[in-house]
Amino acid sequence: MNIVIIGAGPAGRFAAMYAAEKGNDVTLIEERFIGGKCLNQACMVVCAFSDVSRHLLDAENFYDIGVIDSVPNIDYTKITKTIRDTQKKIRKIITQETVSTGVEFIQGTASVDADEKVVIVNDEEYPYDKLLICTGSSPNIPNIRGAENALTYRDTLKLKEVPEKIVIIGGGSTAAEYAGIFSSMGSQVDIICRTQFLKILDDPEAEEYIVSKLLKNTMIHENVNIQEITDTSVVTNYGEIEGTVLLATGVTPNSEIVKDIVDCDERGNILVNDYMQTSNEDIYAAGDVIGGILSTPVSRMEGMVAIKNIIGQETRADYSLIPMTITLPYDVSYLLGTDVSDEGKTIKLPGAAGPGSFWYTLKSRNGFTKETINLETNEINNILAITPSSNIALPYMIKSIKDGNKANDFDNFLEIHPSTDGIFKLTEYYKRYL
Ligand SMILES: Cc1cc2nc3c(=O)[nH]c(=O)nc-3n(C[C@H](O)[C@H](O)[C@H](O)COP(=O)(O)OP(=O)(O)OC[C@H]3O[C@@H](n4cnc5c(N)ncnc54)[C@H](O)[C@@H]3O)c2cc1C
Repeated sequence: MNIVIIGAGPAGRFAAMYAAEKGNDVTLIEERFIGGKCLNQACMVVCAFSDVSRHLLDAENFYDIGVIDSVPNIDYTKITKTIRDTQKKIRKIITQETVSTGVEFIQGTASVDADEKVVIVNDEEYPYDKLLICTGSSPNIPNIRGAENALTYRDTLKLKEVPEKIVIIGGGSTAAEYAGIFSSMGSQVDIICRTQFLKILDDPEAEEYIVSKLLKNTMIHENVNIQEITDTSVVTNYGEIEGTVLLATGVTPNSEIVKDIVDCDERGNILVNDYMQTSNEDIYAAGDVIGGILSTPVSRMEGMVAIKNIIGQETRADYSLIPMTITLPYDVSYLLGTDVSDEGKTIKLPGAAGPGSFWYTLKSRNGFTKETINLETNEINNILAITPSSNIALPYMIKSIKDGNKANDFDNFLEIHPSTDGIFKLTEYYKRYL
């Protein structure tokens, strides 16, 4: 079968490799860089900066307790150059990985002629039997005077130095992550939220913990209306806040190339059925461009569901339990999905002392885990964990729940000590006595 895939981010690239391996003729088209936003602008950039941030905060703590005799100064341009060089190296590796499966990789901006069933790139036509749209998303620029002049996540590698003051607009994960990053590098940070900071967590105690223990030099302004964004400030209904302005106001789907061909919702997300098929039976879509929960693993899953259905292996996406993490000095991990509920008793377990947290125990910064458990059935209905290892513990926990394990089934679950261990064993006691 002739399959054309547009967009070589997490959704498109894995789908392309799978289909090529199964013997199909696959053309993968990418206008910018292989790896998509994840490698080139988003996840990997946040990951790289977060490592720097954690190193700096640890250095301050180690200085306090006599491990080192000075705190480091950073060279921002050298850091951003190294991130770029690293991305370049990874791009080379994953290009090789992709084409080695037999995928034809084409660089250029694609457009679609659905009547002729061809994709056009650099004046060349690529006929398709089935087309998969994985064009991802771009920064959402809010309708505020001057917003187009503000920075977005696409610009953080272009800065020449760490801003003395930075004003971040938005109350979600990206706002929190960049606040953590820039504050640890020395910026005074203001976060401006239209409603509530980290509403996604739906947990005021977690919000309070993050602000007081994990973000330094950061002021949160909630329920604020912005009137204007200037080159050096944000004008709000409470006054003007000065600083370099960074928008963290979400993303918008890159669906223009098919907007007259397939049905989209009012935000521009491509509408798909359970098989990732659009209103045109020969066109499928996956990843950020269909909206919903936006993450690399979800995009990959959707890409795989789409391609499997395209090649006749009927399958559907599983949105029941999806682990998410906000990368801060400790990972803040939480669950989204159709099976998450607040039914039951919520117990709070203290974070253990271990790698990443031992040296913060005397500062009462060990994090915590909250589990919501139905005490009659022992079913775990929700988890929120602020611990160094929560980004690893949560996915395994989900796997265990999906395999049918309950809150009292962890006696034979052996972990490594010290690491994530202890938490789930303690659940039994906390749910009864505390
Ligand atoms: C700041 C930030 C941090 C994030 N951190 C994380 C994280 O830590 N973990 C996580 O799981 N998720 C994270 N995400 C979300 C994650 O990056 C996305 O969900 C994921 O990249 C979506 O994958 P995708 O393949 O759907 O789209 P994308 O990664 O956006 O890739 C789409 C590709 O399509 C290409 N394209 C678009 N139009 C065309 C065209 N006409 N012709 C050819 N090519 C085209 C684009 O150039 C792009 O390369 C983060 C997002 C942001 C904004």
